[in-house]
Amino acid sequence: MPGMFIDVQVDARTAADPVLSAKLVEVCPVGIFDRDESETLRIVEENLDECVLCDLCSQAVPSGGVRVIKLYE
Ligand code: SF4
Repeated sequence: MPGMFIDVQVDARTAADPVLSAKLVEVCPVGIFDRDESETLRIVEENLDECVLCDLCSQAVPSGGVRVIKLYE
């Protein structure tokens, strides 16, 4: 997809955890995380390019819960 330089991956356990998913929604400064009615995390694809690589998301959850991947060098 053109203009897509960042991918954010959340492991299934983290995404399904209501406390962790709420934390992710709260910490990301550019709104990349949202939750559906069942409090499961979802990635807001259209905001991915706004990622500032601040790492707040990966620090907010247990190690490996969130991976922010740069799709460029
Ligand atoms: S690195 Fe920062 S801006 Fe990017 S998804 Fe994580 S919290 Fe949001």
